[in-house]
Amino acid sequence: MSTLEIKNLEVTYGSGAGAVPAVRGVDLTVAAGQKLGIAGESGCGKSTLALALLRLLPASARLSGEILLDGEDVLTMKWGRLRSVRWAGASIVFQGAMHSLNAVHRIGDQIAEPLLVHGQATPGAARRRVGELLEQVGLPAARADAYPHELSGGQRQRVMIAMALACDPQLIVADEPTTALDVMIQAQILRLIEELVAEKSISLLMISHDLAVLSDTCDRLAVMYAGRVVEEGPAAEVFAAASHPYAAALSSAFPRIGDAASRRAPRGLPGDPPDPAALPTGCTFHPRCPVAEAVCAEEDQVLRVAGAGRRAACVRVGAEPVPLPAPSRIAGAGSAKSSPSGD
Ligand code: ADP
Ligand code: MG
Repeated sequence: MSTLEIKNLEVTYGSGAGAVPAVRGVDLTVAAGQKLGIAGESGCGKSTLALALLRLLPASARLSGEILLDGEDVLTMKWGRLRSVRWAGASIVFQGAMHSLNAVHRIGDQIAEPLLVHGQATPGAARRRVGELLEQVGLPAARADAYPHELSGGQRQRVMIAMALACDPQLIVADEPTTALDVMIQAQILRLIEELVAEKSISLLMISHDLAVLSDTCDRLAVMYAGRVVEEGPAAEVFAAASHPYAAALSSAFPRIGDAASRRAPRGLPGDPPDPAALPTGCTFHPRCPVAEAVCAEEDQVLRVAGAGRRAACVRVGAEPVPLPAPSRIAGAGSAKSSPSGD
């Protein structure tokens, strides 16, 4: 178990005129053993945040703020320390297992690699551990000899999870772990992640564009928009009664797990999230907001208390609950867009 505290995290890609502020002042905490879900459309900065947690961003990214793993700042860690924290302290499960696995190596060798690199096992012990790990993720130990192409998409994602578990991490970051899978398999993989983190008291930070999936799996939810957290609170409450109009739109956008059409355009929301290099003035959500007021184009909104254990960044917080118009009355409702980053 491990506590993750993200404090005023800023991530900007590139520099000068071409600067892309992808994450803009994020504060989040994942308590030991807790499961935090992060939702938001494509381009809102979710993967940038996930990669920042283990300093896996490209060299063009500039970071500031703090990422405290049990009080130790990942951003200022020496390289050797960072290497031991990766896998053993925290590990990441990505979306596309096919791209993350090496096609020419047997999966057993790939799962064993972090164990060997971290000196956690002799080759013989690593082989036994690989068998155990495969069984934990619901695959026969004998599959260790298989190559990635001999497995289905769901089986490959199970292998990725086995790899993430190999060094007994205290935190798992799962970035859209099931997006590439079909609906039935998605549900199985999510259940597996849920069971494993509960059994081992691992803290979980799970990213998805699908708020319904996250509210099923996680204790708390954070909704990101244009690089910021715009709402955060207990998962069931945020999902059932969002305070921020963007979170409200997302929670009505995903009626079914894996529904490809609804994933592209939250119901009733016209347009796309803004380009981080050209953010709107005021509240960055105001051009799409169905309940925007004149002030929203001018005043930037920061998170404020929106009930017990809840925060939201909307001028209406503390005023009346947000009455969203029926989707059919919003201009551009239902128009699907393609996902810019292909997820
Ligand atoms: P999400 O995971 O929510 O879809 P990302 O973190 O992938 O969002 O992207 C956030 C923003 O940062 C997007 O505008 C994206 O185009 C931009 N971005 C992501 N990676 C890079 C990069 N390596 N260089 C420049 N911009 C990037
Ligand atoms: Mg992403």
